[in-house]
Amino acid sequence: MRRTLIAGNWKMNLSRAEATELAKGVAAAKPGENTDVLVCPSNVYLDAVSTSVAGSSVAVGGQDVYFESGGAFTGETSTDMLKDVGCSYVILGHSERRNVIGECDKLINKKLHAALAAGLTPVLCVGELLEERESGKTTEVVRGQITGSLADVSADQMAKVVIAYEPVWAIGTGKTASPEQAQEVHADIRKMLADQYNEDTAGNVQILYGGSVKPDNAKELLGQADIDGALVGGASLKPDSFAAIIAAGN
Ligand code: PEP
Repeated sequence: MRRTLIAGNWKMNLSRAEATELAKGVAAAKPGENTDVLVCPSNVYLDAVSTSVAGSSVAVGGQDVYFESGGAFTGETSTDMLKDVGCSYVILGHSERRNVIGECDKLINKKLHAALAAGLTPVLCVGELLEERESGKTTEVVRGQITGSLADVSADQMAKVVIAYEPVWAIGTGKTASPEQAQEVHADIRKMLADQYNEDTAGNVQILYGGSVKPDNAKELLGQADIDGALVGGASLKPDSFAAIIAAGN
């Protein structure tokens, strides 16, 4: 049985005081037996947030990482640096990095291999733009992102990869994919992984949904057969709403 993962992506929000306060609130939430909780603050607060959740079951992750291990890469962060400040996960290929910063699958793939080699669990984000959905290209786009971002990843390595399906038109917009729309894409991702790897690998991969997940829609989304958790932006910034989403994962 796949575990549920509820992950908060705090993006470029919160002060140090707010981040550590929120982290303490999340650490006090009571996830169900099958639910894991992850918070991904800004890099500059990773250390402080790790300290705030120490002793709890809450995991900490970065929002991105660079593929080189060190050197003259101004502004970048290495996998060892993330681990050094308590990270066990890292989000990769978030739509804001793909569409605002301009990251491509080839770069994301390099980062994913670096994360796996370092023992960090990558949360690989994929998802279509509104115009791609409206022109019937959702499957093609999502499959393309998965193929490119997972190039040369073995079946054994897939056991350490989490995928997050996040339709771009649903991120931060208040528009959520319906549970049926989300389930359809999740099922297709799993089918694709079964064809590319095998049924076991596909059956074990955690696939999260992200895009305006809120306390009032979390239960129904998480109740879908192929949805194994949520990647939450806005609603993860408030302790009560994030706790309610964590509780929906029970
Ligand atoms: C996200 O940032 O990954 C996200 C899904 O944001 P929101 O929940 O605010 O739509």
